[in-house]
Amino acid sequence: MMILKKVIVVGAGPAGIFAAYELADKFQVIVLEAEDYVGGAGLHSDGKLNYNPFIGGNLTEFVTEDQAWSLIFKIREVFRELGVESSFHEEEQKRLEAHAVKSGLKFVKIIQSHIGSDHLPRVMEGLKEKLERKGVEIHLNTKATRILVEDDKAFSVQTNQGEFEADFFILAPGRAASNWLIEEMRRTGNGMSFNPIDIGVRIEVLNEVMEEITYKFKCWDPKFHIYTPSYDDFVRTFCTCPRGFVVREAYGEGLFGVNGHSMRDTGSPNVNFALLTKISLTEPLENTTEYGRRIAQLSNTIGGGKPILQRLGDLRAHRRSTWERIKRSYVEPTLRDVTPGDISMAYPSRIVKNVLESLEILDRVIPGVNSESTLIYAPEIKFYAMHIQTDNHLRTRISNLYVAGDGAGISRGIVGAAATGIIAARGIISQELV
Ligand SMILES: Cc1cc2nc3c(=O)[nH]c(=O)nc-3n(C[C@H](O)[C@H](O)[C@H](O)COP(=O)(O)OP(=O)(O)OC[C@H]3O[C@@H](n4cnc5c(N)ncnc54)[C@H](O)[C@@H]3O)c2cc1C
Repeated sequence: MMILKKVIVVGAGPAGIFAAYELADKFQVIVLEAEDYVGGAGLHSDGKLNYNPFIGGNLTEFVTEDQAWSLIFKIREVFRELGVESSFHEEEQKRLEAHAVKSGLKFVKIIQSHIGSDHLPRVMEGLKEKLERKGVEIHLNTKATRILVEDDKAFSVQTNQGEFEADFFILAPGRAASNWLIEEMRRTGNGMSFNPIDIGVRIEVLNEVMEEITYKFKCWDPKFHIYTPSYDDFVRTFCTCPRGFVVREAYGEGLFGVNGHSMRDTGSPNVNFALLTKISLTEPLENTTEYGRRIAQLSNTIGGGKPILQRLGDLRAHRRSTWERIKRSYVEPTLRDVTPGDISMAYPSRIVKNVLESLEILDRVIPGVNSESTLIYAPEIKFYAMHIQTDNHLRTRISNLYVAGDGAGISRGIVGAAATGIIAARGIISQELV
């Protein structure tokens, strides 16, 4: 019997799962997962899957565009086998694209699926079963603490359940554990750089305002890109939640913001989405995370320990919202544990201006979004991990140590993370077979 070489994958989020899936028939694969479930942050999302190599990261950093599309279609096929259908109404999306161009913004045509928070556990369980059927060993409640390296080669990983030796390692711990990954990379002498950050707000309007795009065109999470007139900043719509709910999200160390989610079988009368400005910093401060945390801190302070909620009409008129004024809105907030207030007290004026100008532009393709009644929640900040330096196979300077997923700062979404997992796995396959 042939003895297969061993690969340890740290993290059973989308990146780790798809890496293990790709490696399974060719190696003995062991997945170490700190929690008692698989799926990672993907399990806590509402499972909007964006099948596009330029959304949720940029896969052409590592592979050609053709290869990137083929990875995307492979991932779509795996989800399809688990009963996740995708939709793409090409004619409608083309029409919307043309309408957007004529209106001064860009609409990104995209194939999407929407699993829904209510169906995600079943899909993640299906992925786990697929792995187990292929012989992958999954160790839950097993947290990696240190990668042991000698002569620039990793030989073992220490965990709370003992030590695991292997021939190859893929670290895919997700963004929440990116500090651990950064520490391991520093210790092993690997380079890294800061990623940009997205700072913005969450918009909530009645479903009717976006229903044509979300339901008729089956474009669950429409991606609009805008360059704002005043600052020429890049603003985008992100994470649209049809019939959704705005929720509070912890950013760690006591800070919090908002996010959105939607289910497939039930819902609210509202749709919400994030409107995000991309911020890159150079001299003298490169640390975008630090900058974002300061803004979150100020927003949390102004909100008295709750997210801030403001009516668009109030923001425009330079006055704070009150519950009395919020009641005059046609939109009833789905998140009520908030403080009606004034976002411009907490946010840099540049971001506020970007929000106001973007809503004005968006209104040309989503009539009604720029109404007095539109609700705005803050803060919504997307922090990204530091970008770990690797070669195109996602191999670090340690010859048998690879990284994948959001924790390595190279993806920002389920499909993107999954694709980087496959790239790292193929890196190992090609290294071994050469
Ligand atoms: C609220 C929310 C909503 C989202 N909605 C969407 C969406 O609709 N669509 C979308 O595409 N993306 C969404 N995302 C983003 C998406 O979830 C992530 O991009 C994706 O899960 C990243 O995959 P990953 O495998 O890199 O990391 P993760 O999913 O974070 O998985 C990493 C895994 O590693 C484990 N781990 C960490 N450290 C260790 C360690 N030391 N030892 C062992 N195991 C460890 C973690 O427990 C975790 O299971 C959302 C994220 C959040 C937080």
